[in-house]
Amino acid sequence: MLEGIGAAPGVAFGHVHLIDRRRATYPKFHVPEAQAALEVQRLLSAIVEARASLVALKERAPDHSAILDAHLLMMEDPMLLDGARRYVAEEHRCAEWALRSAVQDIRSRFDALGDAYFRERRSDVDFVGDRILSAMTNSDSGRIEAAPHDAVVVAHDLSPADTIALSKRKVRAIVTEVGGATSHTAILARALDIPAVLGCAQVTERAGAGDLVIVDGSAGEVVLEPDEALIARYHGVADERATMFAALQREVGQPCVTPDGRRVVLFANIEIPEEIPAALAAGAEGVGLYRSEFLYVNRQDLPDEAAHAEVCGAILDALGDRPATLRTFDIGSDKMAKAVKLPREHNPALGLRACRLGLARPPMLRSQLRGMVRAISARKRGSILLPMIGSVEELTAVRELLAEEMDKLAHEGVEVWRELKVGVMIELPAAVWIADELAQHCDFFSVGTNDLIQYALGIDRGNEQVAHLYQPLHPAVLRALEHTVGAARRHGIPISLCGESASDPALAPVVLGLGFDALSMPGMAIPRVRYVLSRIRFADAQALLAECLRQSRAREVEALINELVQRAIPEAMALLRDAAHS
Ligand code: PEP
Ligand code: MG
Repeated sequence: MLEGIGAAPGVAFGHVHLIDRRRATYPKFHVPEAQAALEVQRLLSAIVEARASLVALKERAPDHSAILDAHLLMMEDPMLLDGARRYVAEEHRCAEWALRSAVQDIRSRFDALGDAYFRERRSDVDFVGDRILSAMTNSDSGRIEAAPHDAVVVAHDLSPADTIALSKRKVRAIVTEVGGATSHTAILARALDIPAVLGCAQVTERAGAGDLVIVDGSAGEVVLEPDEALIARYHGVADERATMFAALQREVGQPCVTPDGRRVVLFANIEIPEEIPAALAAGAEGVGLYRSEFLYVNRQDLPDEAAHAEVCGAILDALGDRPATLRTFDIGSDKMAKAVKLPREHNPALGLRACRLGLARPPMLRSQLRGMVRAISARKRGSILLPMIGSVEELTAVRELLAEEMDKLAHEGVEVWRELKVGVMIELPAAVWIADELAQHCDFFSVGTNDLIQYALGIDRGNEQVAHLYQPLHPAVLRALEHTVGAARRHGIPISLCGESASDPALAPVVLGLGFDALSMPGMAIPRVRYVLSRIRFADAQALLAECLRQSRAREVEALINELVQRAIPEAMALLRDAAHS
């Protein structure tokens, strides 16, 4: 069993689909003993084929014949062939995996020689290995698009574009070696309801393609080649969860009101319009955060005004008459887009990102704002949210661009909806401390705790090494939130919470006490948060918050919340335990 960070809940059983871009991809699975002779045969045929291609190459490139002769000799080296044979016979590895292992053994012997000449030979060994491998492999095997439906995708890391590709192929689970609970892989996995374990060290080394694997995305466990007893145990865990899920489903669609009458609106966070039907089915009352940068990540060119108008229009239409908050692109840092070339930065999280990037490249931001205004004006519904605002100057600069584009559109004959509301994301400590000033220049706040925690605590949200220090209940975070809600109240503007903290039932009592008007979260989290919120009195939550704000440690805050939940809704403790890992 391997352990990682439970990043999206649920138990899944499936077969490993390995994606490892750090090396040439190759099949990696165990074969039954009876197939060993066949695997050795495949290896020998691949060597024959690779030799033939080298001989042909030598004829075409006589100038390089010396080096090619050396490669041909290496292909006959008993260390390579016997080594690979041994891996097939003794460890039942498939031919490709066995070959790769034998190549690695030879490489490390060269390494050990210490002589520069021999160290140089390592790349020749790799070359020879790759030639044989390519004669053997199906080049499609390492691609997400090739993942079968019962696949558990195992990778070192996944890019946002990979994760989008996953949304089109409902795989069983995701396991990666890097990434934390608020990385974008985690967010999308939760939105798509795919169990995920991230930060699972060495999983690409330990898992072989095709191996049976169990993933418990709630507990953060990955079980490779489980025996019968383990399979039965995890089926039990899955059944328990299904029972709780059914209880949650029964209340879906009812408004979220506390027993003493406090209404909290529950919205969905989405990355692509296709997520909307599932979010509505889970009880979402609208979209509280559309992460528009996902329109950029899997394309070669920049989306133009029409593309923005189209996707925003699709979102608004899919929602009927419900509201939607459309965020301008938050590109940069961990969300890169192919068409947006950014300078190399030492500290991308502190670099050119979101509105900073938009202000540095106004045409890109202007065309998105125009597309959004078109879609919103045509329907007289929807608002615009600005990410990563850190100063009044930045906010007014973006608002000026918006005002100019609205005027231009009006000149062009578009019936511009002037009631369009503009909100600010509070996700930098700077924004917290100037919330009173920002509130005078915008219509609403939406707090992004994913980044706010990252920047307030100095903890990289995607770094598994420091994941244990990423504490949503850190007193510094609670105090920042209280101050921000206070600023919104003082200036009479609505405030919502759209970071992952909104989706965690273990935080729900404190979040309720803080007094947010709305919470926005991955659609699938709505039922569980609704379940907890509709069973806790607002007055009790406020008293709890006051007590929490007096604590100096996250641990103490957590204990106070658990005490309240245990008293008010003991059956929800299981929900809290599950969410603790997601
Ligand atoms: C946040 O930072 O909390 C947030 C909602 O934005 P994102 O996760 O897209 O950075
Ligand atoms: Mg953010």
